[in-house]
Amino acid sequence: MAAKVLDGKALAARIRAGIADQAKALIAKGVQPGLAVVLVGENPASQVYVRNKSQACQEAGFKTFDHKLPAATSESDLLGLVSDLNRHRAVDGILVQLPLPDGIDAKRVLLAIDPAKDVDGFHPANLGRLLMGEPSFVPCTPFGIMKLIEEAGVTLSGAGAVVIGRSNIVGKPMAALLIGANATVTVCHSKTRDLPGVVRAADVVVAAVGRPHMVKGDWIKPGATVIDVGINRLPDGKLVGDVDYAPAAERAAAITPVPGGVGPMTIAMLLANTLESAKRRPAT
Ligand code: NDP
Repeated sequence: MAAKVLDGKALAARIRAGIADQAKALIAKGVQPGLAVVLVGENPASQVYVRNKSQACQEAGFKTFDHKLPAATSESDLLGLVSDLNRHRAVDGILVQLPLPDGIDAKRVLLAIDPAKDVDGFHPANLGRLLMGEPSFVPCTPFGIMKLIEEAGVTLSGAGAVVIGRSNIVGKPMAALLIGANATVTVCHSKTRDLPGVVRAADVVVAAVGRPHMVKGDWIKPGATVIDVGINRLPDGKLVGDVDYAPAAERAAAITPVPGGVGPMTIAMLLANTLESAKRRPAT
C-alpha cells in the first residue's frame, strides 16, 4: 500500500491565504497585525528562518519589526528591547529567534516576553495553559502537525500515538495536544528501551529527534500515520527527515515528506497565532 502524502506546503499555502484575507478585514478596521522578530548574532540557519518568517508576514499583509542585534549584545540590552516591544501597541507578537549566543540566558529572555504576545507559545504560562487544556498560544510546530493530522482525516480519539523526542518546543507540547485529542500517548527519548517495539504498536508516530533516517520502515505499523518533524542535512547537502521515508511510505497510510511536510506548517501557524493576538489587541 502506498501512503497518502500529507502535503504541508499546499495546506500551509491555503491557511496563509485565509490568514491574508482575515488580515485585510482587520486592517480595514484599523488594526494591522504586527510581528517583531529579534535575531541576535549571525547564525546562518537563524538568518534564513528569520528572513522566511518576516517575508511570510509581509505576504500576509502584516507589519514586521525586524531587530537584528550584534552577537555581543548584552542580556540586559536584549531584555530592554523585549520590554519595549511588550509595551509597543502595534506589536502583537514577539519572536526571539533561538538559539541565543553564549552569555544570554534564553530562559530569562523567554520569561520576559508578555505571554499575551508570545506567539511562539514558549512562555511557561502558555505551556502551562496547554497542559491544562486551556491553550492561549500553542507552539507553532505541534500546532501545525495537529492541522496536518486533522486534514488527513485521522481519528485521534482512542488511537495509540508515539512522540519520539521530549523537547519543550516540539515533543512535550505535541504530547499535550495529542492527549487533549484523546489519543493514548507514549513519549520516547534517548533513554527509551526498545524504541522499535514501542513504535511498532503505534497508530500515529511523530518523530522529532534530529537524526537522519533513524525510524526504519519496518518499525511502522501497517496503516499508521507518520509525521516527520526532523530536518537533517546530509553531507551531500540533501535535506532528510528522521524517518526512512521510502520504506516507511510502503507501510504507512499517510506520511509527511521532508521537505514540504511539517516545515511549511510551522510558519503558517506563527502567522495564525499573530493574527489571533492582533484580534485581541485592546482598543485604545
Ligand atoms: P532537541 O534536540 O531539543 O530534542 C531531540 C529529542 O530527541 C530529545 O528529547 C532526545 O532525547 C531525543 N533523542 C535523541 N536521540 C534519540 C534516540 N536515539 N532515540 C530516541 N530519542 C532520541 O530537538 P527539537 O525537538 O528542537 O527538534 C527535533 C528535530 O525537529 C530537529 O531535527 C529539528 O531541526 C526539527 N525541527 C523542525 C521544525 C520544523 O518546523 N519542521 C521545528 C522544530 C524542530 P533526550 O531528551 O533524552 O536527550
